[in-house]
Amino acid sequence: MYWNSELETIDRRGLERLQFDRLKKALAAAASTPFYKKVFSENGVAPSKISTLEHLKDVPFTTKNDLRVSYPDGMVAVPRRSIVRMHASSGTTGKPTVIFYTMKDVDEWAHQVARGMVATGTTSDDVFQNMMGYGLFTGGLGLHYGAEKMGCMVIPMSTGNTLKQIQFIQDFGSTVIHITPSYALHLVDEIRAHGVNPPDLGVRKAYLGAEPYSEGTRDKIEAQFGLDAYNSYGMSEMNGPGVAFECSEKSGMHLWEDYYIAEIIDPETGEALPDGEEGELVLTHINREAMPIFRYRTRDLTRFIPEPCPCGRTHRRIERIKGRTDDMMIVSGVNVFPSQIETVLMNIPEVGNNYQIVLEREDNLDRMHIKVELYSKMFQGDMRELERLKKRMGEALRAIITINPKIELLEPGSLPPSQGKAKRVFDNRSL
Ligand code: ADP
Ligand code: ZN
Repeated sequence: MYWNSELETIDRRGLERLQFDRLKKALAAAASTPFYKKVFSENGVAPSKISTLEHLKDVPFTTKNDLRVSYPDGMVAVPRRSIVRMHASSGTTGKPTVIFYTMKDVDEWAHQVARGMVATGTTSDDVFQNMMGYGLFTGGLGLHYGAEKMGCMVIPMSTGNTLKQIQFIQDFGSTVIHITPSYALHLVDEIRAHGVNPPDLGVRKAYLGAEPYSEGTRDKIEAQFGLDAYNSYGMSEMNGPGVAFECSEKSGMHLWEDYYIAEIIDPETGEALPDGEEGELVLTHINREAMPIFRYRTRDLTRFIPEPCPCGRTHRRIERIKGRTDDMMIVSGVNVFPSQIETVLMNIPEVGNNYQIVLEREDNLDRMHIKVELYSKMFQGDMRELERLKKRMGEALRAIITINPKIELLEPGSLPPSQGKAKRVFDNRSL
């Protein structure tokens, strides 16, 4: 089932022609903004002379810092009266950046999200309970407008208030939820603590996004709730959620290429990488009026899946985000991504729903300390069982990250739960 079959199954030639037309228009509009006016003149970019998609490469990368420097409206390409909405990034990595939308931008964004939801089989018969934060954060309102556009009944719950979440799922028969993976893992514990068996709630689908998570975490959420979970990706600079969405194949996210031109580059050198290789995703928005942004360095690491998707959509898929280039920890000289640790932990069946990575310096040496919650039944048995598990976990981790972390096994609920984006890495070394 498609939301817009013509656009979703467009052939490559048609898609590239559309991309080219939209790129040319976006460049012309951007030339009126203080930021790109300067960038174009410094780099000899003349929008009217663009004759192939390749010319996009004449425009240098745009970084998060460029957005901060041009705060508040140095990248705005429309008169103030045409703007109907603003959002801001959640500020995970510093000062927030702001994004503006015209009415058409808000509407197009809703279409992008509706496309993703329909691709997972959601219909207007579904009741959609949105557990993402509402407000400046794009996660809440982004899916809200998309779900309304495709005709779902939307319950705009936002995060937290677990008891009410459960009550509304029961009273209104919510079938689809949108939630961060870390909050999903907390919520399922809370549901059980209230004496409810999570699959009995009847929720059939979850959209999980806003933060990196492993395939093992998806499996855990699916198994405990008894639902199908789909990966949803986006960032405020590129509208918000809806940039890329998994279809019912659940194997990589279709990146809507009529809205974005995507590149994968080597984060160190900025050079383009061959198709299928992992690197930093760079995105150009070619279908937005208020704030065109070219070659935005997302800092997210992923790769294109070169094979076509059996669902028939021609827009290329990206793989699950491995993390951000700036997530990388350097521990005793070894590069480690939190996602590598999560992948190991979540594949161990005894591991429960939360963990933390703490970095410390003892006697001038880096130490990694991993705190892991287990399922409660693990604490009812033999202590030696726990010791064996700890050893197994240590070996599995060492095989992947080559360092030897100190592991602490904890009862469920010992670590602070998360409602929005989880903070799991605590680097105390520089303090
Ligand atoms: P901030 O950059 O301040 O966190 P955003 O709220 O716009 O602001 O967050 C966007 C970022 O969230 C993305 O660049 C990415 O790192 C992360 N993210 C969003 N969705 C996913 C996802 N499905 N998987 C992994 N990471 C994601
Ligand atoms: Zn597909």
